[in-house]
Amino acid sequence: MNASAHIEAVFAETRRRNPAEPEFHQAVAEVLESLGPVFERHPEYADTGILERLCEPERQLIFRVPWVDDGGAVRVNRGFRVEFNSALGPYKGGLRFHPSVNLGIVKFLGFEQIFKNALTGMAIGGGKGGADFDPKGRSDGEIMRFCQSFMTELHRYLGEHTDVPAGDIGVGGREIGYLFGQYKRITNRYESGVLTGKPVGWGGSHVRTEATGYGAVYFAHEMLATRGEGFDGLRVVVSGSGNVAVYAVEKVHALGGRVVACSDSSGYLVDEDGIDLELLKEVKEVRRERISAYTEARPGASFSARGTVYDVPCDIALPCATQNELDREDAVALVKHGVRAVAEGANMPCTPAAVQIFRDAGVLFGPGKAANAGGVATSALEMQQNAARDSWTFEQTETRLAAIMRDVHAQCRDTAATYGGNADDYVLGANVAGFLRVARAMTAQGVI
Ligand code: GLU
Repeated sequence: MNASAHIEAVFAETRRRNPAEPEFHQAVAEVLESLGPVFERHPEYADTGILERLCEPERQLIFRVPWVDDGGAVRVNRGFRVEFNSALGPYKGGLRFHPSVNLGIVKFLGFEQIFKNALTGMAIGGGKGGADFDPKGRSDGEIMRFCQSFMTELHRYLGEHTDVPAGDIGVGGREIGYLFGQYKRITNRYESGVLTGKPVGWGGSHVRTEATGYGAVYFAHEMLATRGEGFDGLRVVVSGSGNVAVYAVEKVHALGGRVVACSDSSGYLVDEDGIDLELLKEVKEVRRERISAYTEARPGASFSARGTVYDVPCDIALPCATQNELDREDAVALVKHGVRAVAEGANMPCTPAAVQIFRDAGVLFGPGKAANAGGVATSALEMQQNAARDSWTFEQTETRLAAIMRDVHAQCRDTAATYGGNADDYVLGANVAGFLRVARAMTAQGVI
């Protein structure tokens, strides 16, 4: 069978065995579409069933999460952990608490995580988990009881050498704290490295909170540098207003750019003077309110519930909200307004049609598995510190993160040039570089 027939057969079989999981199919298709040149050079990967094995998670866990709300009513959610691939290290990837979470979403995220984690160069495999729990409007006590119930089941599958979750949408330092406490209580082990994203002061790493947003901006900065440009004086649009978006805004401003718009699920805000970071943090992180509250406190800014944040003209777009948030029409609008670079801070925020439009227009496009790898890379730095019972300074940790992002960027370009002849093809470069590292390890470890 030739390379493309082999890849097509694996994709058809993956779709057949995983029906009604469109995001998972999309994530698999995006990687497989890059792999033709790899299988032409390395037919041995077809002989050892690398792709067939990569597309089937090593283990998939689905469990009931019962908890009692503040009114005394019993609630039931569904918890997930997909332990996708452990060729490079313990399963590593976040937990997402959001009503949209289902098995297909967790599988798409876990699949992406395999290649992202490989690109970081660290010893971490790929996994992902979460629950269809909606934290919005829940009290602190409810969040704690939910996290405790979730961990009561999940703890038996975790371990610092086995599976190491972290945060994702809906899971931050508070939730990681409750999850860690329950793990410690059940196992009677202070196993610092079993979770990352812990608060600084009891095992957490400096820069972990900021890392995904900072990393995405570093990646965009590297892309711009290939054109002899920097962020200085550029207009930037960031979607979302969660942890990734907030720290992307901070780093853009530090590099001399101006973020003029950001969003949440209720709409978007425009602030031509540049987003006031302290106010945004106050609204989203302390008061946990909608972004319209930002505009109430800042008369020059405006809020819109209609249209999308991508209607705002900009030089750089950083989608930092969620999957498939930036579609074909958004991409057309961005290109029309002269966007120069797009770096994905979220996981798979651009639809395949949008990505195609950027590529056709010659817009520099950094796919999430490369551009947002800074978060998980810093989780791996947290694991290193925990293993050594050490704690590094903010500056030391940020220096490591910046070096990792430079290396991820360079790997993408070098690999894209080698396998496709165009160093600007970051999609090809990220997929192939990530795949090769995992495939080599899987080959060496035999058919397992
Ligand atoms: N959820 C983050 C991601 O999408 C971080 C995962 C981690 O730190 O393990 O990469």
